[in-house]
Amino acid sequence: KGLKKHFPYKQGLFSRQKGVVHAVDGLDFTVNRGETLGIVGESGCGKSTAGQLILQLLEPTAGEVWFEGRNLTALGKEDVRKVRRHLQIIFQDPYSSLNPRMKVEDIVAEPLEVHGLYKGAALKERVVELLRLVGLDEHHMSRHPHEFSGGQRQRIGIARALALNPSLIVCDEAVSALDVSIQSQILNLLKKLQKELKLTYIFIAHGLPAVKHISDRIAVMYLGKIVELADRDSLFAHPRHPYTQALLSAVPVPDPTQRKERIILQGDLPNPANPPKGCSFHTRCPYAQDICRSAPPALERQADGHLAACHFPL
Ligand code: SF4
Ligand code: MG
Repeated sequence: KGLKKHFPYKQGLFSRQKGVVHAVDGLDFTVNRGETLGIVGESGCGKSTAGQLILQLLEPTAGEVWFEGRNLTALGKEDVRKVRRHLQIIFQDPYSSLNPRMKVEDIVAEPLEVHGLYKGAALKERVVELLRLVGLDEHHMSRHPHEFSGGQRQRIGIARALALNPSLIVCDEAVSALDVSIQSQILNLLKKLQKELKLTYIFIAHGLPAVKHISDRIAVMYLGKIVELADRDSLFAHPRHPYTQALLSAVPVPDPTQRKERIILQGDLPNPANPPKGCSFHTRCPYAQDICRSAPPALERQADGHLAACHFPL
């Protein structure tokens, strides 16, 4: 609800002037139990920051995060620690998120030990159970991360994230560092686990194909804000926001009759420390009018159910 994260920074080494990066600038959305909400946008749009705010890894500048009926932003440290068990994250880079000196067994067991949930033989049993869930087994337990391929390492990361029986997992670019063929294996694994364990996902990525593969609904972010949110198929069939349209036009389509002309956005992503007035997309939007340069459009429900923030939705 109204989630914001502003990072203050110094504008130059010798400057006294301070600026503020509006990394996340007012997010309102709901994730339903058992669904996957995709969040897509260019790097720097605030999607990772949003994920970290939801997981309470960052403190919001404003706004609230509610989880299963509780306002997490109002909880004390100890209560947050307890709730955090149910909220886990899978990172982009399995190469750097796994401790290279630890054995797989210890990497997966660590969260269980930290929470004092299992000991001795029961702990080992639980680790084997987790490894099997992600397509590995007890033969992998005494090996180190460098002995595995990228895809296998991501499986280890997933096993670790599952250790505490979470209900919500934030996947932050979870497949972006992997080859395309491995990406689909991991996406299929995530889907299988979602069904078996009744998981809810927030799937953050800059690439639309992966988001399309796994999401039920998709939120498109631009400069810290959601510009469009809709059911997956509806979003791809009829994007309502010009930015969504441009993103979709950049995705290669195999069927030549379905190919649309690629829309090349003019200019670079504006500096999030100094976002454009009015609609923050107006500096790159092919449809911008005068009103777009002064009045920021609200995220409003359109006739087809899409939420879109545009004065002239498509
Ligand atoms: Fe483009 Fe104006 Fe819509 Fe912004 S409000 S996306 S500038 S048409
Ligand atoms: Mg990121």
